[in-house]
Amino acid sequence: MNHNVKLCTSCVRNINSKYIASESGKCIFCLNFEKHREHLENNFQKIEWKFNETISKRKGWKNYDCLVLVSWGKDSIMTLYKLKKDTNLRILAYTFDNWFESPEALENISNTVEKLEIDWMFDKPWFVPRVLKTILLEKIPISICRFCAPIMIHKAIEVAYAYQIPYLITGRNKGQSDKEPSRFPLRNLSQNTFDSLLKNYPFLKNIWIEIWENEKLLKQYNIEIASPWIYEKRDTQAYMKIIENELGWKVPKMSYPRYSTNCILNFLQVVLSRKYFWYSHYDCEESMLIQYHETTKQKAIEILNLDIDYEIIHSILKKLSLTLEDIWLSQDELKQYGTFQGAST
Ligand SMILES: [Zn+2]
Repeated sequence: MNHNVKLCTSCVRNINSKYIASESGKCIFCLNFEKHREHLENNFQKIEWKFNETISKRKGWKNYDCLVLVSWGKDSIMTLYKLKKDTNLRILAYTFDNWFESPEALENISNTVEKLEIDWMFDKPWFVPRVLKTILLEKIPISICRFCAPIMIHKAIEVAYAYQIPYLITGRNKGQSDKEPSRFPLRNLSQNTFDSLLKNYPFLKNIWIEIWENEKLLKQYNIEIASPWIYEKRDTQAYMKIIENELGWKVPKMSYPRYSTNCILNFLQVVLSRKYFWYSHYDCEESMLIQYHETTKQKAIEILNLDIDYEIIHSILKKLSLTLEDIWLSQDELKQYGTFQGAST
């Protein structure tokens, strides 16, 4: 039972993964970051300047000035709160549910839009569970959670276009700007695999988002995407206090990583990512936050080191009418990949 985990000396990426190159114990992401630190930090400042400068000029042509993506708990709820308090923008909140959002998460959003008096659009596409089931049954080595973000952005762009809204706003944090290898989930598949998947499962074309398709659409529709507070040094505890007090926000009971507000599907995603890639994208997000000094390696290990047990995996699979055997995950593997082995290196 040797997963062969060795963490980078600076961050929590596993340098034994073949997807993470390293030199003298340091991963390539940390090495590159150090080289370009100044440039990267300046970029965030440019975002602040650009947002404040242009948002007031580009009003929506119809009922709304911006569409705000509200799916991922505290960051996006806080973004909604700040936009409402600090700007005069006419806001449409948009939530994408992949059928795995927890009831607490949805209650949080519902309470927020009601208290802040914001229009809310709720989107729960029928095809997402079928896509997930197919990908799992076909044992395609990808990060299954990587579908949701591009589909969500894609659908949000279409809504913004239909309502003629010039801005799409996300509560993305600095950790989510990482360019790690599982970012484009289907890019490693051969053309043949692609073709036969589409032939066997025509509904997959709903999610067939090419690598730069969303970027192209944004350009074509003249819609800008912004994460206006990404430049800010984030104080998660302070954020949580504000939204708890002002909006009655509650921490979801179960979520990976520890203290996060991600959907339930992530538990399975993390286990499978560790099996296929020897890391999960949360290791990368935490690593980015370490690089920006928003967390420490020790804190990152603490939140990643949350054991994932059979019960939660079983409940996810049950929802998709699947078993461990169906997805070729043995009990031993579940035990092995259900723990963050970096904690003991
Ligand atoms: Zn590193």
